[in-house]
Amino acid sequence: MKPILTTLLISVFILSCRDNKTIKKETSNQERVTFSIVVHGGAGNIIKEQMSDSLEMVYRQELKEAIQVGYNILDTGGTSLDAVQKTINILEDSPLFNAGKGAVLTYDGINEHDASIMDGKTLNAGASAGTKTVKNPINLARAVMEQSPHVMLSGNGAELFAKEQGLNIVDPSYFLTKAKLNALKRIKASDNSEVVSVYDQTISDSKFGTVGCVALDKHGNLAAGTSTGGMTNKRWGRIGDSPIIGAGTYANNNTCAVSATGWGEFFIRGTVAHDISALMEYKGISLNEAARLVIQSKLTELGGDGGIIAIDKNGHVTTEFNTSGMFRASMNDKGDLYVAIFKN
Ligand code: ASP
Repeated sequence: MKPILTTLLISVFILSCRDNKTIKKETSNQERVTFSIVVHGGAGNIIKEQMSDSLEMVYRQELKEAIQVGYNILDTGGTSLDAVQKTINILEDSPLFNAGKGAVLTYDGINEHDASIMDGKTLNAGASAGTKTVKNPINLARAVMEQSPHVMLSGNGAELFAKEQGLNIVDPSYFLTKAKLNALKRIKASDNSEVVSVYDQTISDSKFGTVGCVALDKHGNLAAGTSTGGMTNKRWGRIGDSPIIGAGTYANNNTCAVSATGWGEFFIRGTVAHDISALMEYKGISLNEAARLVIQSKLTELGGDGGIIAIDKNGHVTTEFNTSGMFRASMNDKGDLYVAIFKN
């Protein structure tokens, strides 16, 4: 019994040291790294005082588990596209995040998923919008990119294509969770029942929860992907920024890879993901500067809320958001892990 206890204590000690050691590495701009990966699980009104320690631990654990999958792919020479897709799959299968299994509900009480993926080497991209039965929408986005002549498919056509591609199809009831049903009820009962008002600081659990991942592989290729259920109470086939290349997702080997989360309408109007890349490309500014400018100035002045994760072509990572929190984690080629939820 004693040796088991000692091993356990040592493991906990090592793990906590690892988190602390890397705590300053969220934004890295120093040495060149051969590969790195960043993941997000949504931004929003996420306040430490309102989250129990046990729930915080569960979120942290899920983020760690997901990023470790992508890290292992990159570490063994795999592609950034695979790392992004497989990392997102883990979060899509979790009921905690607003993607796949945990997707939020529309006004009609159903789930409609959006996703996109982009290859920074070729600028190829794939996206799907408004699907109701595809278990892992990011897999559909990748299939659209690689197996169709198109960039974006939507609704019934997208579902037919998913079936033809042999993707995992589930009954829509698979996505129904009690938590998301309660969130819909609360929003409908509040004064802010319009979809544009869904992100409301007065609704204590108002957070977006979309998932995304960006990665640089050992071959120097960047990739970005995003998957979401959109916004609670959305209506009329509303589609957000997540499946829109240039708004919620963008990757270009010459600049950076970006995945966004937040109030989608503003990210579309601000072409947020591409704007960050364009600032680097045309103005020659760093990823940090570009991300800060777009999120803290442009998006904020427009009235939008949310954030981004990004990696540049040298593997430097950045996370930027104007909300009180964003679920996020990153790992570099040395295996340094950083996991965070709140602002600091
Ligand atoms: N950006 C997503 C949307 O507007 C929501 C989110 O990030 O959670 O659909």
